[in-house]
Amino acid sequence: MPCQLVWFKRDLRCQDHQPLLEAARHGQVLCLYVIEPDYWSGSDVSARHYGFLRESLRDLSADLRAHGLTLHVVQGDVLEVLRHLHRTVGLSAIHAHEETGNAWTFARDRAVRAWCRDQGVTCREYRQFGVFRGLADRDHWLRGWEAQMAVPCHQLPDVITGDTRPELVRQLPSATRLGLPDEDAPGRQHGGRHAADAVLASFLTERSASYRGGISSPLSAPTACSRLSPYLAWGCLSLREVVQATRAQRARLPPDAAFQRRGLDAFVSRLYWHCHFIQKLESEPELEWRNLHRGYDGLREADWQPAHFTALVEGRTGWPLVDACVAMLRHTGWINFRMRAMLVSVAAYPLWLHWRPVGEWLARQFVDYEPGIHWSQLQMQSGTTGINIPRIYNPIKQARDHDPQGRFVRRWLPALRQLPDAWLFEPWRLPESLQQRYGLRVGHELPAPVVDLEQATRLARQRLFERRGDPEVRAAKAAVITRHGSRQRPAARNRASASRPDTRHQMELPL
Ligand SMILES: Cc1cc2nc3c(=O)[nH]c(=O)nc-3n(C[C@H](O)[C@H](O)[C@H](O)COP(=O)(O)OP(=O)(O)OC[C@H]3O[C@@H](n4cnc5c(N)ncnc54)[C@H](O)[C@@H]3O)c2cc1C
Repeated sequence: MPCQLVWFKRDLRCQDHQPLLEAARHGQVLCLYVIEPDYWSGSDVSARHYGFLRESLRDLSADLRAHGLTLHVVQGDVLEVLRHLHRTVGLSAIHAHEETGNAWTFARDRAVRAWCRDQGVTCREYRQFGVFRGLADRDHWLRGWEAQMAVPCHQLPDVITGDTRPELVRQLPSATRLGLPDEDAPGRQHGGRHAADAVLASFLTERSASYRGGISSPLSAPTACSRLSPYLAWGCLSLREVVQATRAQRARLPPDAAFQRRGLDAFVSRLYWHCHFIQKLESEPELEWRNLHRGYDGLREADWQPAHFTALVEGRTGWPLVDACVAMLRHTGWINFRMRAMLVSVAAYPLWLHWRPVGEWLARQFVDYEPGIHWSQLQMQSGTTGINIPRIYNPIKQARDHDPQGRFVRRWLPALRQLPDAWLFEPWRLPESLQQRYGLRVGHELPAPVVDLEQATRLARQRLFERRGDPEVRAAKAAVITRHGSRQRPAARNRASASRPDTRHQMELPL
């Protein structure tokens, strides 16, 4: 009997998994994950992604087994795998989630749909986020997001009729065999559904009390933030599960837990942002490669400075908070939003680097790499969307505000540990006599700043604002807002929230 194929991609779970449920309703289920070497040769993937994936596949396989199903993990080109399965087993339908991935997965999914059409195999793709394919405009987008999040999570029957052939691959290829760049991150989060459940539970019950007020400093953020990003990016949890669990937890809080309630509200806003940003890439896949506002083309392209890029990537810019963030990122594969934004701002303004190579490097560093959020944020923080007011972060001020005692910098830059507070964030100013006393020479153990921060930032701001002031650039801004801008105005939000049930809250809205 031909099979109902469930093609797992970035949805590595059994829970709230519509493709699996629909396949089970229609016949004998065959579960497949394909490790595609061509995908893994891309410039935005790395060994840490692959490590997280392998752990997640292990959990998925065990969870499927509990439902009587086998996960077949195959290495190769997906079309060849499908051809082989269709020839040997017979495929009646392919069930998968819609994916808003990078240009490579976009082209791959198109090729799979075309193959299905040619072969007469039904291809059914299901929405998994509040992201809408073929969306004409953003006018009713928020309503659509709420509707998607309100659908009850899909529950699988205990037993499903699975295929009975032996598992196709037992040993997954190593990262080295796939030729993956960069080392795995020794301190990264563990992949898989079981780790995801534990992280979600600890956030909802305890850590969310520190969410507001705790997410900006790189010291408190690792515990105050939810840390759910890699589990959402790889689909170990569905966004809907998280939204529903958060709203349920909010409803259970006692009246005096106002602070935690506000923390959960702010968190749900981020879950909304998650889809808001992915929708941009879904509606305009080209933003992965080119400026969202074409009026910014040519702003930085011709000025690429390899030495600036190398200093950034090696964590030797000379600005301690920046270098400490790079060290943490290398070790853990995660850093909080404000520090991500600061890293990109430093790259885009004083170092005047184009966002694309910076984004590729960061994508490889972030275990939670999610193309729709990532490329939209890269452009936003680099000032090329044309619709966001450019935010230029000063890394010395950020250090004073968010690491006042220098604990974060000292933790990640051991060479600076002995420096007194007065010099910690600007060690290049250390007098000669103190350099000798501490055995730290500027330009050797202490990297000298790559550029003069003040001067380089002033010049960058001037170049950017000249471009922003160009009448043609200003005129073209409206079209970007129509296509990508958030529609809700604060006043409308207040009116709307007044009539909403208590489980809803006011959204903090990005553009
Ligand atoms: C340059 C840059 C690149 C980024 N790249 C990614 C990326 O590749 N993948 C990614 O998941 N996030 C990315 N972010 C957004 C944000 O920094 C991370 O989502 C967040 O730090 C993840 O930690 P968390 O899950 O503990 O966050 P929490 O604050 O607990 O947020 C919960 C969830 O909401 C979503 N979210 C939070 N902040 C944002 C935001 N500003 N925009 C969109 N969604 C958000 C994420 O899914 C996150 O997991 C990027 C931000 C910047 C500035």
